Amino acid sequence: MQELQEKIKKDGVVLGGNILKVDSFLNHQIDIDLLNKIGQEFKNRFTNKHITKILTVEASGIAVAAISAQHFNNIPILFAKKNKTKNIDQNSVYSSQAQSFTHGTTYEIIVSKAFLSKDDTVLLIDDFLANGCALEALVDICHKAQANIAGAGIVIEKGFQEGGKRIRSKNIQLESLAIIEKMDANGIIFR
Ligand code: 5GP
Repeated sequence: MQELQEKIKKDGVVLGGNILKVDSFLNHQIDIDLLNKIGQEFKNRFTNKHITKILTVEASGIAVAAISAQHFNNIPILFAKKNKTKNIDQNSVYSSQAQSFTHGTTYEIIVSKAFLSKDDTVLLIDDFLANGCALEALVDICHKAQANIAGAGIVIEKGFQEGGKRIRSKNIQLESLAIIEKMDANGIIFR
């Protein structure tokens, strides 16, 4: 997606440790016009699938998922919560473990059983794809709920990390709107 690539080149900041900061338009302050075009692009790429729900992870996936849902006939979005409490009734939720790329810690994500079932066809959405842990945890939760996975929509895939390969090897339709081949202090190169 050309406009997204230009925005990343113009306003993205490459940090050490393979982190791209896009706080000025995606992760902190949000450019709604661009996000709306991102939502439209996901719709174009998954147009033939009868998607009933969009599933993402809190927090940075929520805005992308919410705007995208408006392009899919206002289907509900569901965001997996990062579980911070021990007193949760494990019988009432689907849960999975993920390794955080940005924080280097392991966390548990949970989704209430009330909101995901075998009757759902789910589009997974996230802002970034790095090593694929967050997306794999969402896939795991869909499997536990016996929900169908229509595919995964990612705003920025860092193609030099393993996540893309891992998800594509599961035969999941993965659509990344910008794939970064290489990034360093000299700039960003897209695939
Ligand atoms: P993964 O689980 O694929 O390793 O990492 C994906 C998650 O980590 C995304 O949900 C995103 O929030 C975060 N993430 C990974 N890489 C980056 C990055 O370069 N920049 C930012 N801002 N977030 C990232």
